[in-house]
Amino acid sequence: MRLQDKAVLVSGAASGIGYAVSQLFASEGALVFAGDIASPAAGYPQGIVPLVLDVTQESDWERAVDAVVERSGQLDVLVNNAGIIAYEPLHELDLRAWQKMIAVNQTGVFLGMREAVRAMRRQKCGSIVNISSIWGSAAVAGAHSYHAAKGAVRNMSKNAAMTYVGDGIRVNSVHPGFIHTPLTDAQAPQLNETVIGATPMKRGGQPIEVAYGCLFLACDESSYVTGTELVIDGGYLAQ
Ligand code: NAP
Repeated sequence: MRLQDKAVLVSGAASGIGYAVSQLFASEGALVFAGDIASPAAGYPQGIVPLVLDVTQESDWERAVDAVVERSGQLDVLVNNAGIIAYEPLHELDLRAWQKMIAVNQTGVFLGMREAVRAMRRQKCGSIVNISSIWGSAAVAGAHSYHAAKGAVRNMSKNAAMTYVGDGIRVNSVHPGFIHTPLTDAQAPQLNETVIGATPMKRGGQPIEVAYGCLFLACDESSYVTGTELVIDGGYLAQ
C-alpha cells in the first residue's frame, strides 16, 4: 500500500495510461480523483472519484484541485497525463491545429502544475508526475506540434522541480515509448508497426508498465528523486 491515504489527481484518467494509473494507485491505497472530458467505457472501479476536467480550462483545474483539497484536506500527487497526438509536419501545420495541441499537451500541464503547486506549497509536500514521451527528447519526422509540446513538458518539469525543491515538492517526467492504448489503436497500423519494429524489445508496452513507473515517482520510495526523466520505452532511446 505505497499510497495509503494519499489524495491523487489524475488527468486524462478515462482511458489508456491514465486509467491504468488510476486503477493501480487506488489498489495501492490512494483516494484517486479521475479527471477527464470523457468517461471510461467500463466505468471506474469503486472508490475512484470522477471529476469533469478539461485540462485546457483554467476554471476546471481550480474546481478540480479545490474538490480534492475539500474532500481530502490536501493534494499529495498530481499525474498530468491527458494528451492528444497529431502527425502534421511543420510545413503542413496550420495555426489552429498547433494551438489545439499546445492547449491540451502543454498549457494543460502548466495549469495543472500551477494549481497543484499552490496547494502543495501550503502543505510543504507533494509529487507531480508529468507524462511526456520519447518524442519529448528525440525526434522522428512529422508530428511537429506533438514534439514541441512534449519537449516543453520535459523542461517545464525540470524548472518546477528546481523552483519548488525547497517546498518539499518533487516534479518528474515520464517518457513512454509505444504503448497499446486507444490513442495508438486509432493510428494507422503501418505507423504502429514501424515504431514497434524500431523498438529493441520488438513489442509495444502495456499501460500498466507505465503506471508502475508513475507509482514509483508518486510514492515516498522516490523521496530523493526530482527533476529526472523516467524513460519506459522497451529500449528505444538507448539506441
Ligand atoms: P488515450 O488512451 O487517448 O487517453 C488520453 C485521455 O485523455 C482520453 O480519455 C482523452 O479523452 C483525454 N483527454 C483528451 N483531451 C483532454 C482534455 N482537454 N482534458 C482532459 N482530458 C483529455 O491516450 P494514452 O495513450 O493513454 O496517452 C496518455 C498520455 O501518454 C498522453 O499525454 C500521451 O501523449 C502520452 N503518451 C502516450 C504514448 C502511447 O504510445 N500511447 C506514448 C508516449 C506518450 P478523449 O478520448 O475524449 O480524447
